Parts: sequence; C-alpha cells; structure tokens
Amino acid sequence: MALEIAANCEAIRAKACAWQHGRLAATIIRMHPFRAVALGSVALLLFPLTAATAGDYHPGQTYFGREKYIEYLAGDLPVILSAPHGGREKPDELPDREAGTFAFDTNTQELARAVAEELHKRTGHWPHVIICRVHRRKLDCNREIVEAAAGNPLAEQAWMEFQGFIDAAHATVARQHGRGFYIDLHAHGHTEQRCELGYLHSAEQLALSDEELSAPPYPAESSLKAIAALGRLPYAELIRGPNSFGALLEQQGFLCSPSPSNPHPNAPYFRGGYNTARHARDAAPVAGLQIETNSRGVRDTAESRNKFARALASTLETYLQMHVGVSLVPPRKPAVPQAAPSSRPVQPATPPPGGRLFRRGRRVITAGPDFRS
Ligand SMILES: [Zn+2]
Repeated sequence: MALEIAANCEAIRAKACAWQHGRLAATIIRMHPFRAVALGSVALLLFPLTAATAGDYHPGQTYFGREKYIEYLAGDLPVILSAPHGGREKPDELPDREAGTFAFDTNTQELARAVAEELHKRTGHWPHVIICRVHRRKLDCNREIVEAAAGNPLAEQAWMEFQGFIDAAHATVARQHGRGFYIDLHAHGHTEQRCELGYLHSAEQLALSDEELSAPPYPAESSLKAIAALGRLPYAELIRGPNSFGALLEQQGFLCSPSPSNPHPNAPYFRGGYNTARHARDAAPVAGLQIETNSRGVRDTAESRNKFARALASTLETYLQMHVGVSLVPPRKPAVPQAAPSSRPVQPATPPPGGRLFRRGRRVITAGPDFRS
C-alpha cells in the first residue's frame, strides 16, 4: 500500500542535514509553510531537510514525498538503488530549468523496479529504491541543490526528499547489516555499448598503471572508499581485477568499463556525480558506484530489463559476499520499523578542480568537473 507522507512542510519534523557544508547539523527544526516560504531558497540551501522523519518505514512499502514527485520503496536488504533521471512528470508548478543538463535517462526507473523485483524474488526481501518521478528539465537529483532546483522552493523540497530518503536508507542499512552497497542508476547514449561503472575516477585517472591507481590519493577519492579501506585487495583490483564489479557483471553477459576486458575506458565516459560522491564515497560503512547503462539489451524492453536485473542480482550476491562482507539473506532481526534519517557526518561533494598536481615527484591527476552523467 502506498502512503503519502511529508505532504507539506508543516507536517515535517526534519533533521537538518548539512552534508554539502561538510559538517553535521544536529538541529531539529519544524518548518511552518509560511515560514518556509519566507525563508526561501537560501534558507533551504543552508538547512537541507530530510523528507521523512514523520513516520517509520516498512520493507516492501512505498512512500512518497509531496505531490509524489519522489518515491521511496523501503527495503531491508543491504542494497540501495536510486534513479535520479528516469522521471517523466512535467508538473506546471515547477518551472523549466534554464541551465544545466536536461537529458532524460530512458527506462531507468523501470530498470530499478525490475532489479528490486528480482532481488525480492530471490531473497524474499527488498532493496531500498529511491526514484525521482519528475523530468530532469524540472529537477536534477544528481546535482547539488542550486543547479538541481534552480532556486524554486518546491523543486528544492523534492530534491531534499530524494536525498533524505537515501539518507534514511543508509541509516537503516548500517543499523541492520553494518555495511551495504549503493548504486546510482543512469543511462548513456555513447557509441560504445558497455555499462560504464563510475567510481569517481576520470578516464585519464583510469589510464594510470595499477600501481599508480592503487596509491594515494585515489582509493580515498573513490566511491569504493569503504571497501578499499579494508585493505583486502590492491585498489586497482577492486576497479578492474578478476573479482571487480565489472568482471562479475561481464561474467553475467554484460560488457562493462572498467573491467578486465576494458581496464581503461575511452572518453566519453561518465565517472559518477553528486549522488555517487555523497552516498558512496562519503557514506562509510556503505560503498557503491554509478552504473551508466547502454540501451540495447539492457533497458530498451521489459525482457532486456529483466535479463539485466537477473545479471545485476547475481553480481550483487557475489560482490557483497566477497567484498562487503554482507549477504543477501534475511536480516538478523525481523522486519521492524526502521531508522530515522541518517545523522552520519558527511563531506562536501564539490568536485575537485581540473588539472594535474605533482606530489612527492609522483603524478596525481584530479578528476575534474566533467562527465558526471
Ligand atoms: Zn543520468
């Protein structure tokens, strides 16, 4: 059953989440609708709210933010999926954005739903799935709030609901499983027909040798930071070795980059954006990545999506057991009302400036602001 929650600001008892300012804001505030309007976009920027502290989340149940712009399928598996660019709705109350990127990621919300169904079929439990149902022309849920919402308070609220649902999912995963894995699902239209796996490294960085890539600063800049910190494998092996995510997904029949078959992606290559930084790199004990899917045979038809969902579920089963140390089996505790949104300390997602640095005589390449999807 779908419940509509957080329908307006006066119903929200929200926890301020100052991730983009690099600090934890523990203040609990109650927004009043008139006050919210008066505060305007500047205040919303300073105090981005999580959307849904109003109630508990139950696995398998769907929750919505205001006007159903944002959808959250609550889960109990250590897997979180988001689809920020698969929305089709174009409500009149949200103005078209005039700056940024507007490309719609065709069928990615359907792909996320197919993966959720497949995981449920296998395990009897649900991953957490967060979907933006609004078209990217109106809201970009994979950018910081200024570019994402273009100053519109209603778009800003939807953005905060999207991010808040993911924060809530992270808190639940950490509490129930200790560790977990986040995937931000996208769609690319590049000529090369592969799934581009974004770990926040540029194509130029991935052209480094294994030895260079495994050395600082790259492991700590990665969306796999929490896994790399365990030190079980040289970092480059996590990215493109025989047990990397790309290797495992290729074994299931879907070409990837980076992977053993294609360790150095060719540009254009999407390396991961705001969500991958916020909800994977800076979200220990959760790690993750961005998957940019090609269309043909992956998301173009329901049959393709179901096939890819089976492959991704198999990949996750192996990968989580091998690298994350958690299993896609029933949680230790029975399904219970879940945690309030995360209060984890977080860091800014601001991408580093482009260009090269030289440190201790060794070349270090920064990822730069482009190719964020
Ligand atoms: Zn996208």
